[in-house]
Amino acid sequence: MDSQKTAFINGISGQDGAYLAEYLLSKNYKVAGITRNSSSKYFHGLVYLGINDDVEIIQADLSEAKQCNLLFKNNRIDEFYNLGAQSSVSYSFNYPTQTISYNVLSVLNLLEVIRGLNQEIKFYQASSSEMFGKIQTLPISKDSALHPVSPYGISKATGHWLVNQYREAYGLYAASGILFNHESYLRSDSFFVKKVIKSAIQIKRGGLDFLRVGNIDIKRDFGFAREYVKAIWLMLQLDQPEDFQVCSGTSISLRQIVHYVFDQFQLDHELIMQDVNLFRPAEIVDIYGDNAAIKAIGWTYDYSFFDILDILIEEELRNDGRE
Ligand code: NDP
Repeated sequence: MDSQKTAFINGISGQDGAYLAEYLLSKNYKVAGITRNSSSKYFHGLVYLGINDDVEIIQADLSEAKQCNLLFKNNRIDEFYNLGAQSSVSYSFNYPTQTISYNVLSVLNLLEVIRGLNQEIKFYQASSSEMFGKIQTLPISKDSALHPVSPYGISKATGHWLVNQYREAYGLYAASGILFNHESYLRSDSFFVKKVIKSAIQIKRGGLDFLRVGNIDIKRDFGFAREYVKAIWLMLQLDQPEDFQVCSGTSISLRQIVHYVFDQFQLDHELIMQDVNLFRPAEIVDIYGDNAAIKAIGWTYDYSFFDILDILIEEELRNDGRE
């Protein structure tokens, strides 16, 4: 009997997908990744980590029930990590239908197929701190009230409750990780921290005049993606499924981040231009969470976000100009 476990990752072309695949391979899993588009140009994360030949890539759109059913019928799956989603809050204001439709239907289809076919599969859902939205008290705990303020937050809250319902009603091993913002070199360019670092490099080299930002007085709980995927794996190793928050436990403002990065490059803060067109229609002002529960099951994390910014700046400079 083959004792090697098989993990499937939906959204393997994304930031967390690549780091999670790397971590699972280091634990001797057989790893398969699902993408909506198997064209190799989308797998720069796997290529960057040197693992693109070690994972099987399967093309499927899991918001289509038929494709979801076929995937599970044709494969043996021990652990399923559902990371695939339209993951940008800003984009979700302009594309609410696409965001809500994929982010909700994919979760529903996955839970339905597991319920029907094989209740032994362990299922992880990527929930988000954006579900909390309008905050009453800090730090956030996993029992804080959900009051999302964006289509993205609404889509994630719905996925979260679906997981809860299938766990309670049908006894599935289904767990949600409520992750707060986490960054890495593999974050897409449109996300704030990556954009700030890349722009600072461009300004320093003379290729850009200034950095345009939206509301930088908001505060977020930021962490490091490479460490956060370890918590994701831990959540599927318990005897009973449970939701956990994964966060650093403290928040910093976007202004602190931009100023820190600009200081590292000795750039004048005058080059930071606030543009009201980049403000979101609604915004969480400050958010940070409590990570005691995930630490109690073995997750360790003691980075400050300034440590991570140092790592990200160094990595960005090392890879500057590389495709
Ligand atoms: P990414 O955006 O980097 O990757 C998500 C992947 O989802 C994409 O690579 C894409 O893969 C797939 N996808 C499926 N449907 C869509 C769609 N409609 N639009 C765009 N992409 C789609 O996300 P992360 O790796 O950063 O995050 C992983 C998960 O964790 C996501 O569900 C995200 O919402 C959630 N999360 C992330 C946080 C963060 O700070 N990074 C915080 C909290 C939650 P393909 O095109 O190959 O199908």
